[in-house]
Amino acid sequence: MTIKTLHDAFVHELSDMYNAEKQLTKALPKMAKSANDAELADAFRAHLTETEGQIEILDRLVDICGIELKDEKCDAMEGLVKEGDEIMKEVNKGPVRDAMLIAAAQKVEHYEIATYGTLMALAQKLSLSDAVGLLEQILDQEKATDEKLTDIAERNINDEAMEHAA
Ligand code: FE
Ligand code: FE
Ligand code: FE
Repeated sequence: MTIKTLHDAFVHELSDMYNAEKQLTKALPKMAKSANDAELADAFRAHLTETEGQIEILDRLVDICGIELKDEKCDAMEGLVKEGDEIMKEVNKGPVRDAMLIAAAQKVEHYEIATYGTLMALAQKLSLSDAVGLLEQILDQEKATDEKLTDIAERNINDEAMEHAA
């Protein structure tokens, strides 16, 4: 794809993120299953539902703005998901794995927060006001998920992991 205008850049970033969300819908069920802590597993499942909703929001955005998404693969999300897979392979189920799963998930959320922040700024510049609102909705969900994961880690998982014998 040739990217020339700021609108092209917006469509490129949006297409990349659409693919990233799709990848995440495949990774989150595995993360939920591999988590030991019930609250953490619930948080992953809740964010799966939210992520499926985000894909619907993006579909709506594309519709409203008359955008045609490109066939992009988000290499960053592929890498982040791969790191998550490695944790599941190398660390036994328990609090240490949970702490590492939280770290992996928060890297994903931060990638999403960075990208949706950029997309919002671009949408604003391009006067795509409907898009700005929809992107903000998703951005708020990603931020809330990041904070929820911090809470779960700090409430008990980090302490349990600290006490966990090999
Ligand atoms: Fe997302
Ligand atoms: Fe990407
Ligand atoms: Fe997310």
